[in-house]
Amino acid sequence: MADRWAIIAEERGERPFNSDSPCSCATKKAQSDYDPNCPFCPGAERRTTPAVEIVALKENALSVPSERRAPDDFEFIADPTPDTRERRKWFLRVVGNMYPILSMGDSNASLRADLSGAFAQFLAEPNAFYRTETAFGRHEVVIDSDRHCRGWSEMTSLEIKLAFRVFRSRLRVMRDIGEFAYAFVFKNVGESAGASQPHTHCQLTANVSLPPELNAELRRLDEFTRASGVRSYWRELVANELRYGRRVVFDTERFLAYCPYASRSPMQIEICPRFDGAFEDYADAELDELAELAREVVALLQRAKTVYLPTDSRPLDYNVFQRNAPYRASAPFADALKAFRPRWVITPTLVKKAGFELGCGLDVNPISPETAAARLRDVL
Ligand SMILES: [Zn+2]
Repeated sequence: MADRWAIIAEERGERPFNSDSPCSCATKKAQSDYDPNCPFCPGAERRTTPAVEIVALKENALSVPSERRAPDDFEFIADPTPDTRERRKWFLRVVGNMYPILSMGDSNASLRADLSGAFAQFLAEPNAFYRTETAFGRHEVVIDSDRHCRGWSEMTSLEIKLAFRVFRSRLRVMRDIGEFAYAFVFKNVGESAGASQPHTHCQLTANVSLPPELNAELRRLDEFTRASGVRSYWRELVANELRYGRRVVFDTERFLAYCPYASRSPMQIEICPRFDGAFEDYADAELDELAELAREVVALLQRAKTVYLPTDSRPLDYNVFQRNAPYRASAPFADALKAFRPRWVITPTLVKKAGFELGCGLDVNPISPETAAARLRDVL
């Protein structure tokens, strides 16, 4: 849907998992739940910016044994006071990124403050030859577990459900600010996937302008509807994938996980909802089902690596990103936005882009999505 092309070249990758990325010491050694040197572990709060949201047990749930806790036993405290930050034990924690990709000037600034002045200063600088814009926006880190674990496949069912509730909560905050065109969540796990910290975490960015991939998708959705008369591309895609079946990996009540047609990366999996609606408006039950499925997908990819690459004992490195619906779209694409369904894309880090890919803008995938899905179903 993003109008990008991929070359499926299975003969180039006899082994599906042929990563030659350098091995990180942090991933080699066995991990415990706590690392005293980690800035994301409890007790190191002063090594990050102050929390803008924490997840804590409700006061009336403090006596519930840990194995019986459910997401509803927790509260999501946005803009916690210094006293709350000090006093309450956190289970998940959101902080401003200390090294932001997008910035509003002060990563500690309260999002409740009047931001109109800051937004007014966001100006495209005119230039006859080069185009320059300020990378203006918000960049947060979601520490999605208080345990020093690596990623989603090591997290408990409760932890991953709380994580997805935090994503909904933060994306609502970004939407309600009213100035951002787009916000989304992504996750890098492992050094070759770009992670700079071994403690599990996700990131969230909010942009004032629509990123190119989103512009391209809205344009293609609009073209598709005009050419075909089919109003919902994503409803049609889910029906098609179910009918064809060969790329489907998981099929749950509300979601479908499949290896996308013409995937640009080997073993890539996309999770698409079987219903319309913005991620920020998901009900708890929808969110819980998505969270469990996302955890299962990562665990399956990890298991597939141990089966198909038994001599490589390194844990799987991977990227996750959310293809969220834009908060707004310019006039010609308003209808396309209504047909948008938010997806989650999980991509194992198995191949590097090389000269051909960089020179042509064409990705080469050594394993077709049909083969990938069959191999994944085999190890289910
Ligand atoms: Zn840690």
